[in-house]
Amino acid sequence: MSGKLFNKVALIGIGLIGSSLARAFRRESPETEIIACARRAETLAAVRRLAIADATTRDPAQAAADADLVVIATPLSAYAELGERIAPVLKNHAILTDVGSVKQAVIRDLQPHVPSGVHFVPGHPVAGTEHSGPESGFAELFRDRWCILTPPPETAPEPVAAVGRMWESFGMHVVTMSADHHDKVLAMTSHLPHLIAYTIVGTATNLEESLKSEVIEFSASGFRDFTRIAASDPVMWRDIFLNNREAVLEIVQRFTEDLTALQRAIRWGEGDKLQELFTRTREIRRSIIEAKQA
Ligand code: NAP
Repeated sequence: MSGKLFNKVALIGIGLIGSSLARAFRRESPETEIIACARRAETLAAVRRLAIADATTRDPAQAAADADLVVIATPLSAYAELGERIAPVLKNHAILTDVGSVKQAVIRDLQPHVPSGVHFVPGHPVAGTEHSGPESGFAELFRDRWCILTPPPETAPEPVAAVGRMWESFGMHVVTMSADHHDKVLAMTSHLPHLIAYTIVGTATNLEESLKSEVIEFSASGFRDFTRIAASDPVMWRDIFLNNREAVLEIVQRFTEDLTALQRAIRWGEGDKLQELFTRTREIRRSIIEAKQA
């Protein structure tokens, strides 16, 4: 155990990421008091059954009052209202952080509410599964994954370091970058792949019945991997695309151009072009395996 990380932590949103955090705190910093917040009584009943928090509440202000660290872990569309509701109770020197998958929009929605004396450290643990809710979390989720912190320039270095130490103690590698850069990188590595998966599975569901049943039967030939990604939470992904609009549209434009070039190569029988691309892409897979991110 690495000692107590914080005295009192408020987890606002206690689904896959929030409950994984609660479990990681339980394991690495058992003396930290955890208060969990969600809208629905059944979510909080599950949290109590799982015994991953010391207290539960449906009131975000009650959760945040007196906390040393407040973590927002809800879908992005809830952030602005939550910021407004918790701002009056945040204590002096508290740290406000989050786990949202887009960072410029988080700063846009939260920063105007952050009182002076409160340290704002936006963050994104780049780790997840296609499952949601408090039952789906696990402490090992963060092991050997990256956590990206995007503090605004006015945030002091000490709270950024404190949030970084927390993620490191949960097994993550921590890096700091601008929110703008984060959003561009994630548009390519995460948002575009999800959009493609949603499109492919959507195309399959539009097929005529006879073809559709065979697609499911023979899904192991590639389709199955897309269905796993396309089973990700609809609300979370709606919010990601609406909140990272510019970066996603830019990368979709490039992707569309490359797809058209491939379409042309197939039409004109240009096998050398196809083979050259497929050889280059194989190298990317190798480097991901070498970086232990496979
Ligand atoms: P999730 O499993 O669906 O959990 C969301 C939690 O937020 C639930 O506990 C939900 O409970 C609660 N909630 C929703 N609206 C709320 C509100 N207005 N006030 C209080 N609680 C509210 O979602 P998740 O996968 O943990 O994702 C949470 C955040 O992490 C998102 O911003 C996402 O971008 C980010 N993230 C996700 C992943 C991933 O792979 N899943 C990875 C990295 C980052 P109730 O419905 O009962 O309110």
